[in-house]
Amino acid sequence: LLQLYGPLNFLGFVYREIKNSLADMEKMFGLMARNAEIKDSDNAKTVNLDNASVEFSNVDFAYDSNRPILHGISFQIPAGKTVAVVGSSGAGKSTLSRLLYRFYDVNQGAIRINGHDVRELAQSNLRAQIGIVPQDTVLFNDTIYYNIAYGKPSASREEVIEAAKSAHIYDFIMQLPDGFDTTVGERGLKLSGGEKQRVAIARTVLKNPPILIFDEATSALDSQTEKAIQAELKAISANRTTLVVAHRLSTISDADEILVMQHGQIVERGTHRQLLAAAGVYAQMWALQLHDEGEPQAI
Ligand code: ATP
Repeated sequence: LLQLYGPLNFLGFVYREIKNSLADMEKMFGLMARNAEIKDSDNAKTVNLDNASVEFSNVDFAYDSNRPILHGISFQIPAGKTVAVVGSSGAGKSTLSRLLYRFYDVNQGAIRINGHDVRELAQSNLRAQIGIVPQDTVLFNDTIYYNIAYGKPSASREEVIEAAKSAHIYDFIMQLPDGFDTTVGERGLKLSGGEKQRVAIARTVLKNPPILIFDEATSALDSQTEKAIQAELKAISANRTTLVVAHRLSTISDADEILVMQHGQIVERGTHRQLLAAAGVYAQMWALQLHDEGEPQAI
């Protein structure tokens, strides 16, 4: 029996490892809400999407046919520009980013990148060229090095270090007992919301995609971290075609265009200044947010 102990113990270890990896995968796919019905067309194209200009053209969408979510959504993000979406909870903001990444297909209308309907592109080709900094970054139960390198598995150590530096998480990592080899995630060191977002930013820097989706965390980070993350995002979104789903208006006041959504429709659009001057929904939201934050800001 004693002879069996070693192998059985090892099998137990393997089982636990596999179970944990599966839990990671489930979490990842659950979060990403991957839809098995999305398939590549027989003649799916592989194209380079550098200098991507994104267009939503009269898009309607419902997760369930009896509950329409988006209606008649049209907007463009010219190459290298930033469009931000704001609106009340459940208005359909994050749904726009899921459709751009093609987790789901639109019911009406089309989403085009440089004129290519996303349904005509190979999914792997489309997704390789879009970087997502999600609301809540999933960390693998692995080293922080692995978690950053995940953005580009072929990356050299120097590239990973550079990415960590540009996401301003390098100094934090160097303070950890095992540096880049420190295990993070459920079974390792728990990272704060701001640190996790920085890991996501570092991944995206490594991936170096022409299109960027930033889904701002609903829960506020402390204001210093918030400002730092904004500055980092601003740096990586420069020259990339960027869609920002925003929960705090203060973070997107310099976007090239802001879309205000209500009940699945765009009800106002313009720059921050234009929207304030229009004295409509956005101006009201801005006034409310200033009031809630209790600190008047320069406009
Ligand atoms: P928030 O600001 O709270 O993040 P949001 O504007 O981003 O909200 P979405 O996440 O786009 O809102 O959701 C829009 C609507 O679609 C909501 O009513 C939501 O309940 C519904 N919805 C979101 N995901 C799914 C899904 N996977 N299946 C069915 N309905 C969904």
